[in-house]
Amino acid sequence: MTNPYESLGVSKNASADEIKSAYRRLAKKYHPDANPNNKEAEEKFKEINAAYEILSDPQKKANFDRFGSADGPSFGGGAGGAGFGGFDFSGFGGFGDIFENIFDQGGLDGIFGRRSRSRASRGSDIVIDCDITFEESCNGTTKNIVFNRSERCPDCHGTGAKDDSSLQTCSYCHGAGQVKQAQRLGGIVIENTATCPVCHGTGKIITDKCRTCGGKGSFKKQVSSTINIPAGIDDGQTLTISGEGNMAEGAAGISGDLQIRIHVAKHPILMREDFDLYMELPITFTQAILGTKVKIPVVGGYMDLEIPPNTQSGTLRRIRGKGVKRLRALGTGDLIVKIFVEMPKTVDKRTAQLLAALDTDIRADSYKKVASYRSKVYN
Ligand SMILES: [Zn+2]
Ligand SMILES: [Zn+2]
Repeated sequence: MTNPYESLGVSKNASADEIKSAYRRLAKKYHPDANPNNKEAEEKFKEINAAYEILSDPQKKANFDRFGSADGPSFGGGAGGAGFGGFDFSGFGGFGDIFENIFDQGGLDGIFGRRSRSRASRGSDIVIDCDITFEESCNGTTKNIVFNRSERCPDCHGTGAKDDSSLQTCSYCHGAGQVKQAQRLGGIVIENTATCPVCHGTGKIITDKCRTCGGKGSFKKQVSSTINIPAGIDDGQTLTISGEGNMAEGAAGISGDLQIRIHVAKHPILMREDFDLYMELPITFTQAILGTKVKIPVVGGYMDLEIPPNTQSGTLRRIRGKGVKRLRALGTGDLIVKIFVEMPKTVDKRTAQLLAALDTDIRADSYKKVASYRSKVYN
């Protein structure tokens, strides 16, 4: 296994913030989007992610420092460890800048999965809903969002203590944050470690609380932010903005993510399927016979569609490039128009007479299906 400190180019004494910023810098540099078809960059990207998974998790980091493996001394392999081997980047067409927007379309848990994040040192995610119009989903837009977020107290830097002297080492666990517990089952004594019940794992006891935050180390703040919603986003997709969620409790740790669930309003006529648009176009039976020009809706306006004479009901017309722009990728889907020939519900007597006269004028071989049916049934 590669040494995670070497992978991120940090010293063994690097702080959590130093590790995080080294990781961010390298992840940007080697991100698959910035290095298309570059196997070496992809391997490097996996390596730094694996390294960060270890160094951002206090337990794994401690295991590595002690045993040279994130899994600890004896139970390697399996679900633990870096677990990056099987991730296939090629499956992600439009995978954006991981530090701006990530699409939650499954599979990403392999990189930033809940499993790989330390529960103790990561703040919770914030989930908000955002409504956009159909046109905005096709063209992209920016939205101003307002939400409440837990932020680290600037006065005590998250410790919750008034000053350094009011932050003392926990005497119960001697600062370790964990205590050993012995359990007797039959004749066997099982020893395990548990979070210290006195300091709740921080290893510190506050004798005098910070006045700004009341000892919590954090407070809720209203945040207003402008987000970019990329063209091609679909209803139900989630934009994830890394590190913009709630701050982790305590003086260490990283923020959770901000997740923005996108809701796209329905278009009255156009229906979306991936990046193609579909619509049904009703025309009259006389238009179908004589041909016509019809105004149809497209992204950003309207266009004229030429209907040639003798168009059958059910005819599909594919209009290239008139669909939705592909999300974070080149190209645009198509617009598929299904033509429906509508018969009049009623006709007056004069029209009926005209039609009856017309019927004899149309040559029988103009009706292939009718002719085929008759030949089978009437012989
Ligand atoms: Zn405070
Ligand atoms: Zn303690």
